[in-house]
Amino acid sequence: MTRPTLFENNRWLGDKRTQRVHDLDHTSEACAIDDLLASEQFATFGPDLLAEARNRGYRPHGCVAADA
Ligand SMILES: [Zn+2]
Repeated sequence: MTRPTLFENNRWLGDKRTQRVHDLDHTSEACAIDDLLASEQFATFGPDLLAEARNRGYRPHGCVAADA
């Protein structure tokens, strides 16, 4: 899956419904990014870092590498 052009400047995308964060460089069908975008319940982070997502209470989705 290609990275949504809407987020070409973002790597990490949070789902407010599940409090999970996705790695847009490694998404799979399990991420259901299209569904997330349609729901408009997504979050971006500033700075665009996994650590920032964690600070905001988001847990890594399965697409996030263990060493990310
Ligand atoms: Zn994911």
